[in-house]
Amino acid sequence: MTSPSGLCCEPGDFHIDPVRPVPRAVITHGHGDHARSGNEQVLATPGTIAIMQARYGELAGGSLQALDYGEPVTIGEVMVRFLPAGHVLGSAQVVLDYRGSRVVVSGDYKRRPDPTCPPFEPCNCDVFITEATFGLPVFRHPPDMQEIDKLLHSLRLFPERCHLVEVYALGKCQRVLALLRRAGHEEPVFLHGALIELTQLYEELGVRLGPVQPIAGLARDALKGKIVLAPPGAAAGPWSRRLPDPRVAMASGWMRVRQRAKARGIELPLVISDHADWDELTATIGEVGAEEVWVTHGREEALVHHATKAGYRARALALAGFEEEE
Ligand SMILES: [Zn+2]
Ligand SMILES: [Zn+2]
Repeated sequence: MTSPSGLCCEPGDFHIDPVRPVPRAVITHGHGDHARSGNEQVLATPGTIAIMQARYGELAGGSLQALDYGEPVTIGEVMVRFLPAGHVLGSAQVVLDYRGSRVVVSGDYKRRPDPTCPPFEPCNCDVFITEATFGLPVFRHPPDMQEIDKLLHSLRLFPERCHLVEVYALGKCQRVLALLRRAGHEEPVFLHGALIELTQLYEELGVRLGPVQPIAGLARDALKGKIVLAPPGAAAGPWSRRLPDPRVAMASGWMRVRQRAKARGIELPLVISDHADWDELTATIGEVGAEEVWVTHGREEALVHHATKAGYRARALALAGFEEEE
């Protein structure tokens, strides 16, 4: 099932999220370590294809085939379907049916409601291939609204300071916007240039994110008491000099690790993750009823150990090329 190009489905002769260009790729979602450019044929959800086109233009793939959630398609001898993974817009689990057995490749997933994408749909299967980005018992994500309240509270406490929140451009940025709106924050939110295109794409695809404004050309004082979203690392660079006394926050599951927040100069860590935490990973393994669990993409050992103890046949799949995303 694995090859140097990544996860490979032999009876269908295709790869899932290949790390190097292949003739036929099935893509779970638009993050850069899953959706790469240069494959000959690409099968993905309409949302993922739109994201790949926005990111790669002509290089998104030789031919791009969009497949809606739940629609079956047969490739070789394998029936392929996508189910929502609840990770980012367009994100999918890949369900593979072949000669009476079923493999589900989770891709990246989370279990909490996210206003920007449909929720993860558990699917009974024989083999479940799960990610394990936060596959350690210390990772238990708090409720996301509690973290958003921290940000809004800080904004009230420091009305003279700009609040710079570092977010990943795909998914986290839009989720933070949607959560701010849900918390009643209706003011314009200001965006670093690198976040504008994908945010507009979400809007075009029907996800309402409220008033946003590019920060370019604004006077420094106009940003006092405002929320500015920017990609990771922006606070440390010269770009941030245009902001009035920024209080630096970051929204990521890794903010659970204090040393990481400190090392990055984050004053206000917000533990908001687009990946399942430990409880969600273990609950999901129980829910899908698979006999076999393959763990990839993160901290494999602890989850393999847990699944083995719980009576599953479990093993780590060492796939190269995936980043410690988030
Ligand atoms: Zn991802
Ligand atoms: Zn990933």
